[in-house]
Amino acid sequence: MTSLFRPALSKMLPYTPGEQSAPGKVIKLNTNENPYPPCPAVVKAIQEAATGNINRYPDPMATAFRHAAADALGLPGPEWVLAGNGSDEILTMLVRGFVGEGEKLRLPYPSYILYRTLADIQGASWEQVPFNDDWKLAAEFGETSDKLKLVLLPNPNSPSGTIVDQEEVAAIANSLDCPLVVDEAYVDFANQNCLELVQQNERVMVTRTLSKSYGLAGVRFGFLIAQPQIIANLAKIKDSYNCDAISIAAATAAMSSQDWLKDVVAKLNATRARMETKLTELGFHVTPSHANFVWCQHPDGNHQSRYEYLKANQILVRYMQFPDWGDGLRISVGTDDQIDACLMMLERFS
Ligand code: PMP
Repeated sequence: MTSLFRPALSKMLPYTPGEQSAPGKVIKLNTNENPYPPCPAVVKAIQEAATGNINRYPDPMATAFRHAAADALGLPGPEWVLAGNGSDEILTMLVRGFVGEGEKLRLPYPSYILYRTLADIQGASWEQVPFNDDWKLAAEFGETSDKLKLVLLPNPNSPSGTIVDQEEVAAIANSLDCPLVVDEAYVDFANQNCLELVQQNERVMVTRTLSKSYGLAGVRFGFLIAQPQIIANLAKIKDSYNCDAISIAAATAAMSSQDWLKDVVAKLNATRARMETKLTELGFHVTPSHANFVWCQHPDGNHQSRYEYLKANQILVRYMQFPDWGDGLRISVGTDDQIDACLMMLERFS
């Protein structure tokens, strides 16, 4: 059967996201979702959209959303925004748009594994540049190279939750001759972003998602911020109606609810600080996080058994292992009760 497919596909491994579980039964701290329900204005917008003109196709360019995003983020106008079915779809469009078969993309290591899958699908190759020990980027990350067509930087990074500062990102962008995509899926939990750079340098593009801070992972909505000529060209390769009417309504209401966002982020960041302190007390090495998860490693190296112990006690966290680098636990920031339960189990583990 596989022989019917392009050779690039028969060799590739699928991307597997974190495991799902029956809602309510398990404390789910493994895929960096927001544990709180979305803003009431979003729920209302979904209800209205569901009882509205659902027999009609949605707006192919999600115009209302683009206006709301430009207003909320202080962008020059809606033509700087492109909406997608989750930021994963935006990343797919970027790889399709910039990287041809036989060409190459670059990512830091360890980081978001999906980028490699997208290169594989495209019949392109990928190269990983390891982070330095202090989670700074090695000089190689900004070097030009033959066939290199796209560089992807999750910022804040996953699984580490670390952030590369704006000046460093600007310097990398200036030294490259291809686009630099800054994946800001977790940026609302940090205290800096790269939106100014997008306006200064047409090769810098930023991806965002509504799956994390906005609490809308189930809706599937992400977007790109880039200079208008980039947006116009990428729009040519998107699916005709890539975002449905209900998602567009939800995302538009979410972008217009920035006060709600600030409150929920403050709450999650306070829980994160508490998690970091307690995990340190429990003997973990905790990487200071700028995202809604915490990367921690115990000197005894028993990460997989801790993951299994938590799972046996109905708590799902992410055990991650990176060849030639190491392993650890990535724990999403949940509600205070969920985190207390997780920390109590980790304390009991022996
Ligand atoms: N970028 C990074 C770094 C992520 O961790 C994730 C979540 N898996 C995404 C992008 C994708 O988010 P979504 O497709 O839900 O917008």
